[in-house]
Amino acid sequence: MSDDAHPGVRMVILGRQGAGKGTQAGRLAATCGVPHISTGDMLRAAVREGTPLGKRAKQIMDAGDLVPDDVMVGIVSDRLHAPDAKRGWILDGFPRTVGQAEALGEITAEFPLHVVVDLVVPNSTVIERLSARRTCDGCGTIYRADDPAIADGTCPKDGGTPVQRDDDKPEAIQRRLDLYERETAPLVDHYRQQGLLETVDGLGSEDDVFGRVLGVVDSRVEPDPA
Ligand code: AMP
Repeated sequence: MSDDAHPGVRMVILGRQGAGKGTQAGRLAATCGVPHISTGDMLRAAVREGTPLGKRAKQIMDAGDLVPDDVMVGIVSDRLHAPDAKRGWILDGFPRTVGQAEALGEITAEFPLHVVVDLVVPNSTVIERLSARRTCDGCGTIYRADDPAIADGTCPKDGGTPVQRDDDKPEAIQRRLDLYERETAPLVDHYRQQGLLETVDGLGSEDDVFGRVLGVVDSRVEPDPA
């Protein structure tokens, strides 16, 4: 299917930290012409800008904890009602708790989800990926620490500095993975019961994984009427 012919989609992408959600969600959003809504990116932008939300979220994020549900639900509800979200959206990093999933169900009562993709990657792989992850402090682009493109310590896109996020340091990684098992993994069953879940193998090249993701999305989304 060509990029501009792709119908809009309303989708959640689940998966452990480091499973590749951000990369796949970004590509899919570009293909489908809908916004990629990453709550982690929104919170990091708020921290950079020093907004009241950013000030509140920074310590919680650095420790690898979760920002309270009521705060997150408010942010996401506003974002999903923005004009550019009319054709659809790809939610990455939200919902993260059953409470957030229930709130999302209410927010989207009139424009329900098409599909929830669970991107599955073993724990050992995500620990290795997260430890090697470097994130540009300017534009947020993600690199591997050994990527030759950042050998001089500079992001080729905006001249920012690729750094290790505080929450990608070992203690915080373990804490985030434990939290994922406790708070977010139950969402897999939640969405399976609703008949919305598609499990996708997240191992392999970025292109291979993208092909799988696109395949399940295509199988769930009705083409736009001509
Ligand atoms: P991420 O980039 O998705 O791993 O998010 C980075 C951090 O932002 C998380 O470790 C949380 O502290 C916070 N965060 C992002 N999304 C949520 C959410 N839906 N609920 C609570 N906290 C969140």
